[in-house]
Amino acid sequence: MLNRSLSLASVTTVYISSPGSMSRRTKIVSVLLFIIFFALGWFLGITPFQQGIRASIENGTRIQNRLMALPPVSIEEGYIADEQYQVDILHYDIKLDLHPEDQVVNGDVILTGRMKEKNLEKIILNFHDNMQIKGLTIDGKPAEYENEGSRLTIKPAASLPDTFRIEIIYKGKPEREGFGSFTFGKKYGHWVVYNLSEPNYASTWFPCNDMPSDKALLDMYLTNDTSYVSASNGILVDKTTEGSRRTYHWKTLYPVSTYLICLYSSVYSNFTDTYVSQDKKDTMPIEYYAFPEDEENAKIDYGGHAGMIDFFSKTFGEYPFIKEKYGVAEFLWQIGAMEHQTLTGIGSNFVSGKRFFTDVYVHELAHQWFGDAVGPESWKDIWLNEGFATYCEALYVEHLAGPKALRSSMMSKFDESFSGTVYNPKDDLFGPLVYDKGAWVLNMLRWELGDEAFFRSLRNYYEKYKYTNASTDDFKEVCEVTAGRNLDQFFRQWIFEGDNVPRVDYSWEQKEASDNKYEITLKLKQAEKGYSDYDLPVEFLFKSESAESKTEKIRLNESIKEFHFKLDFEPIEVIPDPDNHLLVYFKLSGGD
Ligand SMILES: [Zn+2]
Repeated sequence: MLNRSLSLASVTTVYISSPGSMSRRTKIVSVLLFIIFFALGWFLGITPFQQGIRASIENGTRIQNRLMALPPVSIEEGYIADEQYQVDILHYDIKLDLHPEDQVVNGDVILTGRMKEKNLEKIILNFHDNMQIKGLTIDGKPAEYENEGSRLTIKPAASLPDTFRIEIIYKGKPEREGFGSFTFGKKYGHWVVYNLSEPNYASTWFPCNDMPSDKALLDMYLTNDTSYVSASNGILVDKTTEGSRRTYHWKTLYPVSTYLICLYSSVYSNFTDTYVSQDKKDTMPIEYYAFPEDEENAKIDYGGHAGMIDFFSKTFGEYPFIKEKYGVAEFLWQIGAMEHQTLTGIGSNFVSGKRFFTDVYVHELAHQWFGDAVGPESWKDIWLNEGFATYCEALYVEHLAGPKALRSSMMSKFDESFSGTVYNPKDDLFGPLVYDKGAWVLNMLRWELGDEAFFRSLRNYYEKYKYTNASTDDFKEVCEVTAGRNLDQFFRQWIFEGDNVPRVDYSWEQKEASDNKYEITLKLKQAEKGYSDYDLPVEFLFKSESAESKTEKIRLNESIKEFHFKLDFEPIEVIPDPDNHLLVYFKLSGGD
């Protein structure tokens, strides 16, 4: 998922060419450049901002109210009962009869599952109790149940066989929780029905075992008036019409987590593109849905996906859902996008016709590999989704424009004030700590391992865990096996225990030696380390007045350490981490 409107800075790419960590001066220069280009573009009428800003003005108050009201999302204590780990849902058969005018859903859901432990006395699922259950059976027989809060406890009359089939018939208006969960909205005078369940609000609209690690297959039947197009995960099996009602039957061939199950139903225009697999054996449809009024803009903005899928397939391994599709559908979550498996939802504010929000489309597509195909073992591992997709934004600009663009993208995510651990972020699953520091961790892992071992690790990780789930330890293990190195310290300091951005104070002295060389003493001190001593491979660039330069690489793994070099020239400037590999704040001792 990506929430983009929170930071205006994130919608532009300011190329920073001066090396070293982002100084105050660099920030000021960046802001000035931004203002100059913005004003120039505005004057010439070519800025892609204009349309976005016009749209923002139109929606301004509403968006602002939503932003101000957007709470940090976390998983409430006790949402998942212990018993829920003892069942494995294999298949969801979801029939939804949508009535936007009344804002009501009629549901008929069949869950096929298996017991991981014998003789379970009850089965616990998640389902919000405002929905009226009209009937509930297990293996065709009525069963006792209790629905309280978001928990549905089912007590079968007799002991159950290893596999079971629960059918629940219900009706109601789904509650709006989290980022909207289930919405009956309106745009251009038309109803738009869609969901955004992440992280744990699928249970507002269908009964489920709502944890990301219990993936299942899906058959989704969406019924609405014949003027509506209804889309979901996977492939379209058929559509049938009865009178004024039309049913779309979608089916997945790959398992899906409950929070990635989706529906979109509106008077969509539908257009397509194709992607050819790396081995040239599969031609996969890319399916796009846009409101008819936005179709021309959407054709421009959506248009780059075949190339993006090709890039990520080459980088990580073939697109995971190659027998199904990739797709993008416009919805009304105005502050971002959501990576529903095989069918991303994109807020209508991000359909600009200027390809202005390419990073958002790239982010959601990258989730198909990391987040969807390789799911998180638990919400504590959410950085495996968001840190990865955010880093993929940087990888894609690197692919298009080279290493400087990568650096620029990473520096736009640099913040000295990240606090808390990347693993188990607790109070805010979708904050910058998870997205931006998570992306920085990957960038630093790449610096630590080198490009070859780093990308081989990502490929191995994807190959090993696709269609299942992985924990942070699983990822660490793949990297260790691939690179042939112990990474305890790296993961401790950046993921599990380190809860800040370290500050390193540096100072240097020089002395002219008898052999016309210069003896340099570089002193480093981990000033604000917060956690313990970090172990940092750091480059220092020494520059002379006549543009001679030399880079020395050192390893800072103690609180205070001194290094000695000999240079052929007299340095006048020393720049730490000149290529911005590290999420470290370097400060010249004695400087401001
Ligand atoms: Zn995301």
